[in-house]
Amino acid sequence: MSRADEIRANIAALESRIAAACARAKRARSEVTLVAVSKTFPASDIDFAIEAGMTDVGENKVQEARDKKPNVTRNARWHLIGHLQSNKVKDAVRVFDVIHTIDSIELAEKIARAGVGQAFQPVLLLQVNIGREPQKSGVDPSEVAALAQRIPLRGLMAIPPVGSADEMRPYFRELRALRDDCKLKELSIGMTDDFEVAIEEGATIIRVGRAIFGNR
Ligand SMILES: *Cc1c(COP(=O)(O)O)cnc(C)c1O
Repeated sequence: MSRADEIRANIAALESRIAAACARAKRARSEVTLVAVSKTFPASDIDFAIEAGMTDVGENKVQEARDKKPNVTRNARWHLIGHLQSNKVKDAVRVFDVIHTIDSIELAEKIARAGVGQAFQPVLLLQVNIGREPQKSGVDPSEVAALAQRIPLRGLMAIPPVGSADEMRPYFRELRALRDDCKLKELSIGMTDDFEVAIEEGATIIRVGRAIFGNR
């Protein structure tokens, strides 16, 4: 099988699992945006994924995305899903349409300044350290409401502690409740191993890498 065929088949299998999860949750497929996470994979793989219907791609490093994007011939929305250092903001606003990893007012303000004069400002999601893990980035759940008042956010994102898909449920629920309290739209949760549970718990954006591109 060619690489293009492999990616197309992976996406077809993934789409049927997404459809089944949406059906179980009585949700429309259109309520869930699938971000194809292409980190470590070449630009050609991103083109194959877009040709197979993907509209959104995700990368976790600014530099890697900046280097790859000129070699991707097809259009997509680009999502930054990894930590954003403040010295990379200028590049990030040129490359990305959506930034999932806002973790301070200062970072959001820097992005706003860097985006002045651009055709559009990136959509911002706040990363929440939902497992309250000291080594992980993201803001403490107790800080979300205050930050949401001061940053123009579209939603919340989290990467829960390592565990089985069912162990993710309480974290997903807590993030959803925070999202609802702040009256925000997007809930970015769910990866290859737990996207079905995430859809059941209200995900509006799922970030899936390995199920599309294979193991890294
Ligand atoms: C790599 C990554 C993903 C995708 O993970 P898979 O297990 O490959 O689906 C999702 N979100 C973030 C933040 C990531 O870094």
